[in-house]
Amino acid sequence: MVITREKPALLGGSKVFPEPLPRYISTGFQETEAAIQVLKSGILSDYIGAAGLYFMGGKQVRALEEQWANYFNVRHALSVNSATSGLHAAVIAAGVSFGDEVIVPPQTMSATATAVVMANGTPVFVDHEEASCCIDPEAVEGAISTRTKAIIAVNLFGGPAQLVRLRELADRHGLILIEDNAQAPGGQHHGRWLGTIGHLGVFSLNCHKTIQCGEGGIVVTNDDRLARRVALVRNHGENAIEAENWYEDADIVGYNYRLTELQGAIAQVQFQRLEELTQPRLKIAEALDQGLSEFKALRTAKVGSGDRHVYYTYPIWIYPQQAGLSRDRFVEALQAEGCPVSGRYVRPLYRLPLFQKLQQEGKTIVSHPTGVCPIAEKTYNETLLSTTLIQIPGGIDLVDRFTAAVAKVLAHAEELSQGKDE
Ligand SMILES: *Cc1c(COP(=O)(O)O)cnc(C)c1O
Repeated sequence: MVITREKPALLGGSKVFPEPLPRYISTGFQETEAAIQVLKSGILSDYIGAAGLYFMGGKQVRALEEQWANYFNVRHALSVNSATSGLHAAVIAAGVSFGDEVIVPPQTMSATATAVVMANGTPVFVDHEEASCCIDPEAVEGAISTRTKAIIAVNLFGGPAQLVRLRELADRHGLILIEDNAQAPGGQHHGRWLGTIGHLGVFSLNCHKTIQCGEGGIVVTNDDRLARRVALVRNHGENAIEAENWYEDADIVGYNYRLTELQGAIAQVQFQRLEELTQPRLKIAEALDQGLSEFKALRTAKVGSGDRHVYYTYPIWIYPQQAGLSRDRFVEALQAEGCPVSGRYVRPLYRLPLFQKLQQEGKTIVSHPTGVCPIAEKTYNETLLSTTLIQIPGGIDLVDRFTAAVAKVLAHAEELSQGKDE
């Protein structure tokens, strides 16, 4: 590649991507039409917070749920107004209350762990596996105590956690496995849909995800009782307990976690387009896998047989020693080239002031002798970066330039490192 002889943009050379890259927009004509139909009907939401037909919402949200349940072959799909609400409802459905422990991974969107706090539970952080950044089943097993009620596994970046192992572990210990599948609709593990291997699976429909309706979420389960509990959390359940004779679920405080008809209609169209919107990501990911495989200092996601990664984002790991360049400097140099990359996914959550404070009060636990999760720390501080190239319209035509930018930066690792404390 000739480009490797050119000067990196960070050292004054010209950028590989001088033009601004387009933003991912998943909606179009069909979504607009669907929304207009609902607007014309005047029924923008159709819930009533009491027992009866409208306890489960209106036409659009029910149609969305039916579509979702059929596609993923589950007994129940319940729409909610966000995955955060869905996680909260799932944790409550699992029976978590004061002092109950829920095992969670440290590197994920904060809602995975705040959902536990919202239900008055204690998040117990355990380390993730280096290869996938998903929760480590062995660490989970080591953290199970008499107070453990549930495990939340996150299918991070669109790839599966070790769900079959985790489900087996959960069943053996009488725990509920919740999948935070916000990032991986349509992904698979051992040939099974992500979100359906745990007792409960939570999807997101927020504007950053592959499919969206602005804000929204779906909770799926094959368990009738868990489904009912989620429905009670979603819609002021306290008003429905007597009429329905559901006294065993009288512990539930209901919220308003209802999705509107407008969003339900948009989400139906988006859901029909899930494969169409996923395919370009997979093609770009495949091209990136190939393009980046020539760099020994980099590693990309390994997808097991029977597994399907759907690339919410495309993770890349750097071995700084081999590269002769720190992750942060590598990212800085790629960004200077105009590459859509970012270093550091989220900070291990136990470092957030909220969880630090809760830890002091004994309401959050980090289950590792060192008091931190070493692999999550290393991932965050030294090795992980990611690119959103997989979601950029026409991204497939940008892959060669992306790998050329990587080649250029790595070829100048020494100069780029100079004068920098590594
Ligand atoms: C996006 C996301 C959430 C939260 O989704 P919302 O619908 O915005 O509430 C939760 N967990 C993970 C892993 C996410 O990526």
